[in-house]
Amino acid sequence: MMHNFNAGPSILPQEVFKQASEAILNYNNSGLSILEIGHRTDLFQAVMDEAIALVKELMQLDDQHEVLFLHGGASTQFFQIPMNLLNENEIAAYTDTGTWSSKAIKEAKLYGHVEVVCSAKESNYNHLPKQFTVPKTAKYLHLTTNETIHGVQWHDFTPFFEAGVPLVADMSSDILSREMDFKKFDLIYAGAQKNVGAAGVNLLIVNKNILGKVNRKLSTMMDYRQHIENGSMLNTPPVFAVYVCMLTLRWLKSQGGVAAIEKINNQKAQLLYNTLDSLPVFKGTVINKEDRSIMNACFVMDNADLEKEFLTLCKQNNIYGVKGHRSVGGFRPSLYNALPLSSVQVLTDLMKDFANKKG
Ligand SMILES: *Cc1c(COP(=O)(O)O)cnc(C)c1O
Repeated sequence: MMHNFNAGPSILPQEVFKQASEAILNYNNSGLSILEIGHRTDLFQAVMDEAIALVKELMQLDDQHEVLFLHGGASTQFFQIPMNLLNENEIAAYTDTGTWSSKAIKEAKLYGHVEVVCSAKESNYNHLPKQFTVPKTAKYLHLTTNETIHGVQWHDFTPFFEAGVPLVADMSSDILSREMDFKKFDLIYAGAQKNVGAAGVNLLIVNKNILGKVNRKLSTMMDYRQHIENGSMLNTPPVFAVYVCMLTLRWLKSQGGVAAIEKINNQKAQLLYNTLDSLPVFKGTVINKEDRSIMNACFVMDNADLEKEFLTLCKQNNIYGVKGHRSVGGFRPSLYNALPLSSVQVLTDLMKDFANKKG
């Protein structure tokens, strides 16, 4: 058995893999593959309807919030958001907390004025910069709830909720992993390939009251309102990716939903961080413990040879995907929803063994 800690595309529940592969051969006893049915059939409409209903239920959304499945991954949202929300002469406020937020900032600058209200760039994003003031004239405030590469995660949203401007969040790597007041966000987006399903689709939740306020002309495919009107089927949706999302959402519901998975996610993170803190050979890269991510844990060793040795040891023990991003180095095991606690146990046991031998 493999222990898959990869950052994305990442582990999904085994039963989702099984159901998805069965549907490739014969979807719901239709005699047809999910890959060959038309997207405007009752067969596929049922998939889309269920996926949307599950998102609304699991996130406890209200009627103002629309759920969309779009192409292009989270990276397309970096520019589609300002395109839909920001006029050229207006200001958008952005928090700069890691690689992903800095990419969002770069794209937003193409469409209007960006005010970076806080940044941890100078310290290679090893903490969250919590002091910031948002201009009242800002059209929206953007945050990345979990920085996948640097392993920092916002845990207190009070300052965001109190900013008094529409709130936009990239939740690609922690959506549906913990309870949050999702209704209070005006736009949430997430590439599906971390906690929601298969690569190739992007989940987007938008409060429709913030739309229709820009004066630029939007091409049909870029206009959220067109996608809402057409139920995420303006053109051919990525049918298989949406299907895998629906199966994964069903699985999450069967586990007891977000509150239940959050408990297990916290157990996994605690086990990993407690182990890390107890073994001096490993060093966490996030300097404030309260900023640590429960989804992606970053750590290094002082000695590059030791890092190589530990990586080889991981491979020998069927531990996959623990290597850190090149901009941080070291290790970054990801602890997404579908990763079982037992895999974290295997990894932490190996860390203890290694530290005993090398410490
Ligand atoms: C992975 C990731 C992205 C990029 O997603 P794509 O679907 O590859 O565009 C953006 N933001 C965050 C926080 C991510 O973790």
